[in-house]
Amino acid sequence: MSSNTYRIAALAGDGIGPEVMREALSVLRAVGDQFSLKFDVTEAPVGWAGIDAAGKALPDATLELCRRSDSILFGSVGLPDRDPTIPKEQRPERAALLRIRKEFGLFANLRPVRLPKALAHACPLRPERQGDGIDILVVRELTGGLYFGEPKKTEDLGNGQTRAIDTMVYTTSEIERIARVGFKAAQLRRKKLTSIDKANVLENGVLWREVVTRIAPEFPDVALEHMFVDNGAMQLLLRPTQFDVLLCENLFGDILSDEAAALAGSLGMLPSASLGATNGQQTFGFYEPAGGTAPDIAGKDLANPIAQILSIALMLRYSFGLNVAADAVDAAVGKAIDQGLRTGDIFSTSEAGARRVGTREMGAAIVAAL
Ligand code: NAD
Repeated sequence: MSSNTYRIAALAGDGIGPEVMREALSVLRAVGDQFSLKFDVTEAPVGWAGIDAAGKALPDATLELCRRSDSILFGSVGLPDRDPTIPKEQRPERAALLRIRKEFGLFANLRPVRLPKALAHACPLRPERQGDGIDILVVRELTGGLYFGEPKKTEDLGNGQTRAIDTMVYTTSEIERIARVGFKAAQLRRKKLTSIDKANVLENGVLWREVVTRIAPEFPDVALEHMFVDNGAMQLLLRPTQFDVLLCENLFGDILSDEAAALAGSLGMLPSASLGATNGQQTFGFYEPAGGTAPDIAGKDLANPIAQILSIALMLRYSFGLNVAADAVDAAVGKAIDQGLRTGDIFSTSEAGARRVGTREMGAAIVAAL
């Protein structure tokens, strides 16, 4: 990073990507003005937009831009109806997303799930289970465990049986680095970390629990508890307000983060961060909405830009340590919600005082609320 200039690659992608990115970048400009911060934003094509512009889902120039940047702000990629003849490995979901994940060593996925009280109607749980609103951060390990462990194969046993093998494997250092991400994230929040494992059955779970417990004294201000994953899945539905940060290995995090996401009512509200290595004060990060390209509503001013805008808050907080600016973005989103503005995905005719708005109006209201 050159002094106080934050270099950001903005890759809007396909479908609703460009619409929600446009609103997010106007929020970023407003944050820059308000806090005298310099954001050097360069936009580049990715996904089908990359294929159209340069013949590749992740054009070389886009990848090069990402390498020169301090963080990537991503929209989403993939259009199911476009050219089905293109091989899987060249399709945007693989060729762009997986490539970026690998290239930048993104090992930690952070998914905050926040259900403001005003959106209680969008949550599938009864109001009495929602307390004063749900606010959970799922920290998921992204590069190890059952998804990548070797051996990984399907074999013919020759007796009419086929055997499939996946291997769950974690090393001490892999657990240590994700645990530290979890503890640090808890320090920025309500200082409680629930570590999820299956230590009663899995060797991996025993090691996970040992290592997380050993790291805990480095973060004396964070309260650590351990929970078996099956109980965690149940507690998310029974009493989600007990959780602050959930620390999970890859598979458990994949499942629990989607379960937690369902509590927020709409994909359009959920940002996500994938973090790589930390260098000095900065952590390389990849920030994107949890949802996809939503082709059903693309180009109609219907998409909820909040997930993309909250991705900016995550970037400010987790890559650049700009917590006050991040708080301001979170608060501005909260204000727009409190004012009753609702895109279609969070609108209900039964909600008194709610007003249905489009992507642009929601974005403009959030900028105004800053
Ligand atoms: P999707 O997330 O795009 O859409 C699912 C539903 O959620 C749709 O009804 C959509 O309208 C709604 N939705 C999503 N985001 C919204 C928003 N911001 N505001 C309002 N409503 C929103 O999932 P899908 O339809 O299964 O996938 C469409 C394409 O997106 C596919 O090609 C898929 O591969 C791709 N995808 C990409 C990513 C990514 O780039 N990270 C993630 C998921 C899906």
